[in-house]
Amino acid sequence: MQVLKFGGSSVADATRMSRVLDIVLDAAARDRVILVSSAISGCTDALIEIGATADSERRTQQIEALRRRHRAIARRLFTGAERERMYAELDGLFSELAAAEPEACVSFGELFSTRILAYKAACEGFSTQWLDARELVRTRDGAVDEEQTYSRIRAAVQAAPEVQLFVAPGFIASDENGCVTTLGRGGSDYSAALFAAGAGASVLEIWTDVPGLMTANPKVVPAAVTIPDISYRAALSLAENGAKVLYAPTVGPAMKAGIAFSIRNTFDPRHPGTLVSGRPPVPEGAWMGVTSRSVPERGEAVVCLVGEAVSSRSTAAGRILSALAEAGIQPLGEVTGEGDCFFIRVRPTVEQAAVGAIHHEFFEHRRVTVIPVFIAGYGAVGHELVRLIGLSAARIERRRGRSIRIAGLSDSRRFVVDLRGIPPGEADARLSAGQSAADGAFIDAVLAAAPRGSVFVDCTDDHFLHRRYAELFRGALGIVTSNRRSLALPYVQYAALKTEARQNGVFFRYDTTVGNALPILESLASDANCSDGIESIEAVISCTLNAIITAYDGERGESFATLLRRAQDEGLTESDPRTDLGGKDVLRKLLILAREAGVPLEAEDVEISPMLGPEFFDCPLDEFYRRLVACEPQFIAREAELDAAAQRQRFVASLRRDPAARLGYRAEIKMQRVDPESPFYRISGTENVIVVRSEYSAPLVIKGAGEGVRLAATGIIKDILM
Ligand code: ASP
Ligand code: MG
Repeated sequence: MQVLKFGGSSVADATRMSRVLDIVLDAAARDRVILVSSAISGCTDALIEIGATADSERRTQQIEALRRRHRAIARRLFTGAERERMYAELDGLFSELAAAEPEACVSFGELFSTRILAYKAACEGFSTQWLDARELVRTRDGAVDEEQTYSRIRAAVQAAPEVQLFVAPGFIASDENGCVTTLGRGGSDYSAALFAAGAGASVLEIWTDVPGLMTANPKVVPAAVTIPDISYRAALSLAENGAKVLYAPTVGPAMKAGIAFSIRNTFDPRHPGTLVSGRPPVPEGAWMGVTSRSVPERGEAVVCLVGEAVSSRSTAAGRILSALAEAGIQPLGEVTGEGDCFFIRVRPTVEQAAVGAIHHEFFEHRRVTVIPVFIAGYGAVGHELVRLIGLSAARIERRRGRSIRIAGLSDSRRFVVDLRGIPPGEADARLSAGQSAADGAFIDAVLAAAPRGSVFVDCTDDHFLHRRYAELFRGALGIVTSNRRSLALPYVQYAALKTEARQNGVFFRYDTTVGNALPILESLASDANCSDGIESIEAVISCTLNAIITAYDGERGESFATLLRRAQDEGLTESDPRTDLGGKDVLRKLLILAREAGVPLEAEDVEISPMLGPEFFDCPLDEFYRRLVACEPQFIAREAELDAAAQRQRFVASLRRDPAARLGYRAEIKMQRVDPESPFYRISGTENVIVVRSEYSAPLVIKGAGEGVRLAATGIIKDILM
């Protein structure tokens, strides 16, 4: 015996009823069938309203509307004498409804639908028998009396061995006094399970309008998918906690009788749907679905995540909380529940968002794009980059659907290339066991191995690496560089590199070369593209000098020489700190800035006034420091003078519109005195400040931390993912 149950939307009209009969008659060719049906959709609601309507005229109208819907179905399904007979039968039932007690009204819907189905099947030539569920399904004290129900069903079925198809109304039953009652809203599923258990059916199918039990309500979460197999327990948990497809009491009789049942889609009969059984072929710890239900009396909603044989409750709870936090949802308490069920309470307004966030975390395995990354340079920035990639890989994957894979790494002596990925934790070991990097061997290996979509990262200080950028571009690698030397080239070379990248359809990103992770270049480039002509760029961008100048406090603090030497020892300056003092590094940054703003500036265009006279530059380093110490009284005097004028001095790089200059812009790097109103006045430590003035808008001021390996590495990752 097979039991097939169809819900209200599966029998909503004549076309759908025909489809149901196709499915049922197909099954009946294999084995006997009990077809259990709901009322046509909306009918039960209408009947409840009819039962509650006291006004007799209105009641008559409501009944008439329902009668017309059913007659319309009969008109489409039957012709001639059959149609007249069906009309007569329906009219009889509708007169009973008109005379029924208010509480009996609700039971008529299933009578209407199943009478039509049974008669249609009979007209098609099947030996069909309608079963009166009111006689068979019995309740006692408000609960189904299973023993009685099963024996009555068994008897009814055995009494008619010639019948191929039984048709039974779902939902309805009668109580110990013989009065008609129901099994609760959505109760037809339960009826079907009772018929299956009573008749000892080997097949139980619940046909509905979605493809089975899904990982979430597809109307709330479009990414929800069908759960192919699930245990009785997990299915019960989903049903009890908000999954509307399955009426929770259904599970009990099936489970007790050991009948595996499936939930299938009437509108897609070939879809296998969900099979609910005792031992589903599901790995332990698998997640099944997320549901929610509102608890209006407490003004909250409860979201429920269900799994099978979950091993670590705390891990799951942590994932739930972080998924909610990431979606900006504050739960109303801790994750609770037991076994394989997890509950979290939220405000009703965020119920759907919470379901979406948890579904995303546990069920949506987006295709992850792997980005192979080849890193040249394993100094302070390189180390930090490798460490950060290791730290943030999981988050980046979850948020961006992309995974950064270190496929190659090189310092000045050795390199390693491995397309399967070098785990960040093993980078040191793998590199020291690597091959010799002499004669550009790393680049050769990268060019030979790199798949399309790879990224080459230059975080070296190398003077010549840029000479191989063009080859890398031609090898379909994008380049991210934090190496200013590779950009502060003569303009033609710089422009040629950019063209090469464009022609090969790959990117060339160097946002960290000015201001590290600060969004300086990107803002400049977009401003320039908007043709809001740039009037001036002023920048305090030497981290080294900013740190020393802001720390220097004349007589009150340490000497200039002491501060500089400490900065040098801490690796904050270039190996010869005079490179910074002389403005060379700032010059590179200014070139990059100007070019990004569309001004093809050359080093020769820039007028540099170093902060110290020429006598400091043409001597060995020791001598330099001696001269610096000797000059300290002058530094103190200047600091006192600045204090008196309420001014400070800053090493400013600037580009200003000047029609007389070669490119229409004048570029300078020099010490400037600034007043308290200046954005440069208050700078702490290694902060960078850039002020961009354009023709029409108010100045753009970008200020923030500009130094530090952490920021450099962050900026590089940003460039890789951009
Ligand atoms: N017709 C009833 C209801 O709407 C029972 C069912 O559809 O399962 O609740
Ligand atoms: Mg229903």
